Amino acid sequence: MEVLSVASEVFPLIKTGGLADVAGALPAALKPHGVRMRTLMPGYPVVMQKVKKPQKVGGFTNLFGHPASILAVDHQGLDLLVLDAPELFDRDGGPYVDKRGLDYTDNFRRFAALSLAAAEIAAGLLPSWKPDLVHVHDWQAALTPVYMRFGPAHGMPVVLTIHNIAFQGQFGPEVFPQLALPPEAFSVNFVEYFGDVGFLKGGLQTANAITTVSPSYAQEILTAQFGMGFDGLLTARLSHLSGIVNGIDTDVWNPQTDPHIAANYGPTTLKKREINRKALSEHFGFDNAPGPIFCVVSRLTWQKGMDVLAEVIDDIVDNGGKLAVLGSGDASLESAFLTAAARHPGRVGMVTGYNEPLSHLMQAGADAILIPSRFEPCGLTQLYGLRYGCVPIVAHTGGLADTIIDANEAALAARVATGFQFSPVSAASLRQALRRAFAAYRQPKVWARLQAQGMKSDVSWDLSAHRYADLYSSLLAKG
Ligand code: ADP
Repeated sequence: MEVLSVASEVFPLIKTGGLADVAGALPAALKPHGVRMRTLMPGYPVVMQKVKKPQKVGGFTNLFGHPASILAVDHQGLDLLVLDAPELFDRDGGPYVDKRGLDYTDNFRRFAALSLAAAEIAAGLLPSWKPDLVHVHDWQAALTPVYMRFGPAHGMPVVLTIHNIAFQGQFGPEVFPQLALPPEAFSVNFVEYFGDVGFLKGGLQTANAITTVSPSYAQEILTAQFGMGFDGLLTARLSHLSGIVNGIDTDVWNPQTDPHIAANYGPTTLKKREINRKALSEHFGFDNAPGPIFCVVSRLTWQKGMDVLAEVIDDIVDNGGKLAVLGSGDASLESAFLTAAARHPGRVGMVTGYNEPLSHLMQAGADAILIPSRFEPCGLTQLYGLRYGCVPIVAHTGGLADTIIDANEAALAARVATGFQFSPVSAASLRQALRRAFAAYRQPKVWARLQAQGMKSDVSWDLSAHRYADLYSSLLAKG
């Protein structure tokens, strides 16, 4: 089966969040299931610099006013189709925002171009290859099934995966005439959304199957609280919606071979974690006092519950714990953590920015990872935590609820517990979870059992890749 995946970021070429990890890992995970997945992505400058020996396999003389090429590239086993459209993607800033952190004003055009290119590939643009099915990710690729509906690829199945329904790709009605869609596409059945143009909206209406990245999140987005305006639409399309939990790339995230950590270790050599703990402590300037090290690797946002975490920092320190934060995001949250670090030298440390190698050392050296998200479609850092023996302390929501087994007495006795869950997301309930974590940490055998159980969890793509392959097969069987 030949599948075209369409994503605006793909690890290891470019990543701002979990979407990149998933888009980067899924092709290899699907290979054993007889799926050949090629991935279409934009040719941002970092992508163009990293790819070797690109081969032009197709192109456009006029893609939204400019010429563009499709380049085929093999990058570390990833079978990529890069949309090389310099007018749209050769920019100084990030994939979505300029150097000042502001959205590019032509994002609608940039990602409409990605979607239109995907639809054209589905329709046979490339002389050498045509997919049987298209799998698109998030709003940036969500116009693909809309273009397909009004073009020659009409009828080819499309799967749309929502990685975070908070990001919807909504633009004013004035962009519609610039999208090269027929006038009837500006209706409630397609992209029209309360008078605006909704990219995700159009995708949700037209995809043959909608998936999201955990079963709990698939349920949650049917409610007004989590659906962010799409609960009604999704309820109407319920029979097309399912949740498939993300796996992680167990080669990239393997404490036994990880090149970014101070000492490699596995389930039988957990003592070596101590070397990573020391390296982490040095990095964050921690003192030698005993007590658990909690870490955070996250976007610093309201969604991630970082304001709630900021409220309990003093409690962590008062109880003898330490906190290492790696992240960037809202200026007020960044400054809350920096202020806490200044208030508690040797106990609280903060590294601002995005640092992939350090994120590995954090999982290998900290005792626990804190993830107090208000909503979390899947979450990946708790899965890395499981694999690295860094015990996850998580809010009971979305994928966090699906992947962590709370250390209540029954689960501890049955030896299945892998972490701590709390609900609701408030300082009081996070404090309560921390109290339980401190108590478990004081009992080395209990803590070691939590770590061991977590490291045994299957966080690979095996099961989930199977589910995606089954979904593709069922869609193709429907004809
Ligand atoms: P989201 O996609 O909502 O940001 P996920 O947990 O699904 O959250 O994925 C976040 C990914 O980004 C993980 O791979 C995590 O390790 C990584 N990450 C987040 N912040 C940083 C950071 N400051 N430095 C390095 N990696 C980070």
